Amino acid sequence: MHSKSPIVHGKVLDELGAKYEYDKVQVKKGGLEEYIKSAVAGGVTGFNLTMPHKVDIIPFLKEIDEDAKLFGAVNTVKINDGELYGYNTDAGGLVLSLSMNGFDVKDKNIVILGAGGVSSTIAVKFAVMGAKRIVILNRTPEKAENICSRIDSIRDEFDIMAEVSFGGFEIDTLKSCAGSCDMLLNATPLGMTGVDSDYEDLSFIDCLSNDAFVADLIYSPEKTKFLEYAEEHGHKIMNGYGMLIGQAILADEIYLSQKLDVSELYTKVVG
Ligand code: NAP
Repeated sequence: MHSKSPIVHGKVLDELGAKYEYDKVQVKKGGLEEYIKSAVAGGVTGFNLTMPHKVDIIPFLKEIDEDAKLFGAVNTVKINDGELYGYNTDAGGLVLSLSMNGFDVKDKNIVILGAGGVSSTIAVKFAVMGAKRIVILNRTPEKAENICSRIDSIRDEFDIMAEVSFGGFEIDTLKSCAGSCDMLLNATPLGMTGVDSDYEDLSFIDCLSNDAFVADLIYSPEKTKFLEYAEEHGHKIMNGYGMLIGQAILADEIYLSQKLDVSELYTKVVG
């Protein structure tokens, strides 16, 4: 299990001078109940979760926050008097890093590449936050279609105005969708350290308008070829490190039950 979370939380907690330890624990599928018992007995303040536990934890929770309800997944649990409270800071972390980079999703046209777990969370969050148009392009278009259907299913409840559409990953589709977006976001593992595959043709980036923002959820390497190409062509870029830090800050705010100056902390930790 490789996780940067202990390092990232360590940085945030050090910055706050908080005397907490953040460790990683491997819990197999089906082992959650046993882990919860030991965490409660051991006085653990809270814990983060990765898949499949993000969904499996839900029956064990006393309460669940709005974002966790919205995404049907929990990435942060706070233990209070032996009861478990669930939160989701995944999309909030990305939104924080976007805003720290001067990008507000409200009224924007956004193209998301990939339709996996993270894409589904952030597309829903962008829709709820007032994005104008969200296009999800994926190798398996049905998965992108499912995310659009999910957004449509909560449209009335959350007053969502966003137009949503989906498509495949063919270069012509990428080119035609890139043409009219304010932000192009890579939410696939293409170009990530340790992953064999990468974008073979980045010419769709040439179709972006000059002021389009280009973001990648990947933070290793620091700059994927996707980001390098976009930067060389004059676009403002952002990698996924800020999202990682943002998630950690929002989770630590929950663990410490303390309102933090999130922007100041982000600036100090990201540097
Ligand atoms: P996931 O659920 O496995 O989804 C991966 C997506 O990428 C799927 O839509 C998949 O398409 C697509 N994909 C994979 N290989 C591809 C290829 N060779 N060509 C075209 N498309 C391909 O992953 P995830 O959990 O959503 O994570 C997505 C990315 O976000 C990863 O790079 C991950 O490292 C990054 N991430 C960053 C942070 C952060 O804090 N910065 C947090 C979480 C994740 P199919 O549907 O066709 O399989």
